[in-house]
Amino acid sequence: MKIGFIGLGNMGAPMAANLAKVGHQVTGFDLAAPCPEGVVSAESAAAAADGAEVVITMLPNGDILRAVADQLIPAMGAGAVLCDCSTVDVDSARAVAAQAEAAGLGALDAPVSGGVGGASAGTLTFMVGGSDAAFATVQPLFEVMGQKAVHCGASGAGQAAKICNNMILGVTMAVTCEAFALADKLGLDRAKMFDVVSTSSGYSWSMNAYCPAPGVGPQSPADNDYKPGFAAELMLKDLRLSQQAARAVDADTPMGAHVTALYAEFVEAEGGKGRDFSALLPRFAARGRSTPD
Ligand code: NAD
Repeated sequence: MKIGFIGLGNMGAPMAANLAKVGHQVTGFDLAAPCPEGVVSAESAAAAADGAEVVITMLPNGDILRAVADQLIPAMGAGAVLCDCSTVDVDSARAVAAQAEAAGLGALDAPVSGGVGGASAGTLTFMVGGSDAAFATVQPLFEVMGQKAVHCGASGAGQAAKICNNMILGVTMAVTCEAFALADKLGLDRAKMFDVVSTSSGYSWSMNAYCPAPGVGPQSPADNDYKPGFAAELMLKDLRLSQQAARAVDADTPMGAHVTALYAEFVEAEGGKGRDFSALLPRFAARGRSTPD
């Protein structure tokens, strides 16, 4: 397939490289990053989109996506599909899809889970919003870049799934970390705590697959001095998107709001930037009680 790929950063570069590796003709553009091996470099986003059957974007945020889409959409041929894999706000995803569809194009929002490791290994999970026809066109590419693609519904449904998932993840990680810090102060051994909780009703992905306590459970960023992994500032970005969406539709998300404020404090005032999002554990362990009784 002839593919345009815009945004060749930490995630986009390995995704584009994997598409080229299996024989797709990939033309890439990034304002700063170089094209990975196998990807032909274009002069502009529009030039990368010219003649492409599918154009994939992997960009930092919704404002940049909207600006890039303004350049891409007039350059794309009728029937081509614009597939955005960035994590952006639901409104931007829907606006870009509407603009693309009005121009006779297909459009998908297809954010990913799995991080840089999943992008390199081709094991991402895609959560996808958009039409059946556009999903069918891009599905073979999802199979190269990932291990699973769930068609969640109409435009915006992929981004909705992503921010709901990550709001759950933020809350379960935070409470897992505070529970370990509480267990420490109660004199409970962390390995025993893991043994019990990972096989009891408090289990979760945060505890079982990504345990925030060093030396306990499976290998995780905690065992590597909390180097990310999934950086705390990226979790904060996704949590803020969840709260932006919740405000827009008048949804009550008190746990989501609280954990967003917690990560904001951690990232912006407590040196959490550049650390894994599970580094809330040493943060809690070093503190005394701060919540009012
Ligand atoms: P990144 O900053 O490494 O890459 C973004 C790239 O976009 C950069 O190379 C930048 O130069 C390029 N860019 C910015 N503006 C541009 C423009 N106008 N035209 C062309 N290129 C432009 O970010 P990343 O880690 O690759 O993340 C990309 C997206 O994926 C984000 O939305 C992020 O939230 C999401 N995501 C990241 C991860 C992760 O673990 N890194 C996991 C899941 C989802």
